[in-house]
Amino acid sequence: MNVTMSFYLKPPRGEVNLHTLLECVQQRILCYDNLDDVTGLKNIDKFEYLIEDSVLDRTSHFIFRMGVLIGYLPMKVFLDNELELLKIRLNAYEIDDMTRFLKNIIRQLKDCIRLNIEKNLSDFYWSLYNVTTKFVGKEYLSHIFEGHIKDDSHSECSKDLWMAIPFWYCNDYVTKRSVNLKNGNAFFHCSQWRHVITTLFKSYLKIALIEMKYSRNVSASLADDRISSCLQLLKNQYCKQKFQSVGSIALRNIEEESIYFPLCMKSLFDSLRKNHRLAHNERFNLSLFLKGVGLSLDDSLKFWQGEYSQENSACSKCSHTWQKNEKKYVYSIRHLYGLEGSRKNYSMKSCNHLQSSELGINSEGGCPFVHHDDDHLRSLLKTNLPGMEDDVEVIIFERKENPKVACKLYGECISKQLKENSFLEENNFDNPLEFTYLVKGRKQNLT
Ligand code: SF4
Repeated sequence: MNVTMSFYLKPPRGEVNLHTLLECVQQRILCYDNLDDVTGLKNIDKFEYLIEDSVLDRTSHFIFRMGVLIGYLPMKVFLDNELELLKIRLNAYEIDDMTRFLKNIIRQLKDCIRLNIEKNLSDFYWSLYNVTTKFVGKEYLSHIFEGHIKDDSHSECSKDLWMAIPFWYCNDYVTKRSVNLKNGNAFFHCSQWRHVITTLFKSYLKIALIEMKYSRNVSASLADDRISSCLQLLKNQYCKQKFQSVGSIALRNIEEESIYFPLCMKSLFDSLRKNHRLAHNERFNLSLFLKGVGLSLDDSLKFWQGEYSQENSACSKCSHTWQKNEKKYVYSIRHLYGLEGSRKNYSMKSCNHLQSSELGINSEGGCPFVHHDDDHLRSLLKTNLPGMEDDVEVIIFERKENPKVACKLYGECISKQLKENSFLEENNFDNPLEFTYLVKGRKQNLT
């Protein structure tokens, strides 16, 4: 059974219920996770969702395209996996499968060219049409399949057939100078027939994604709650990975890096710098946060040692010092980095968790947009957003309705300070780490 895909020239038609729609997306995510260029697809039990060019297969493919458009699925992940799927299929094809595959593309191309809906794709359609009609000719297919032409075996080939495609549809090959160019065409040897198909598919997906940006049908679909639920699955699966790619920070830069911290962590950080002590839970949360933004274990030990070796400025009777409790502090930090005790990988507490925590009277933890009164919050905001009094009042007003939105506004102000024009916009964050990754990710153009 073929379990991969076609060129997906046309979107699916018909009706699919929401449960099936969600399952389509889940199964394609699973498929991406289990792609293996040697053994093909493993651990897939619901093949019906991936049957080549079926409604379910096309549905998930097009939802994934929408995921790319709104930034929930990185373009590279999408292209790499879709290309891998195509390669697996091409490798499994016998001559009859290949004939069906090409005829199917030609049939769909004729419709696309006749209807002339996506005008910017017309040049591509004609190029693909020329290639597929040449491929499907008996001479070519029998030569490739019955002659058992191996990949890239120029020298062993008896007929030496060549395929010309416009050079702008095979940028990767042109940049690597691995094809001959003549009159605006790149020439591929018949032993490279898989390369021709995959490079055309990659180019097609890139152009089609640009076209989709301006499609009214796509905008309407993106506004549909059912599609949003499907896209949320992509966000949960792939945005977290983006969040994990921001890099590391060195102890010597920690002060300047703290501008990216959300207010909950910034106020703990500033309080520690001022008083050199934090209560147990706050110390735990800040340590975990610093680990999450990339502070190494060594730097973390030096950081806490630096603070706890100084006198507690808020309470002169405090008996907790690095000197007296070094073993305990070192153990707890190593524990947090997964090197002691149960070697657990602790994850950052979510905003929801921090916002719903019950705090003691003098606690400095929780979420400032929920737990602080107006005066306290105003003072914190003014310290961190100097000269932005109007914005500070807007944030204080907003936090009464929605603390998370207030935090987002705070992020936008930080972004303005950094002379970045946009901050989170359509992006969301679920915990203080993700807030920092977003602000910092923008700054470093990592999104
Ligand atoms: S909303 Fe989340 S990230 Fe922002 S201050 Fe509150 S807990 Fe921290």
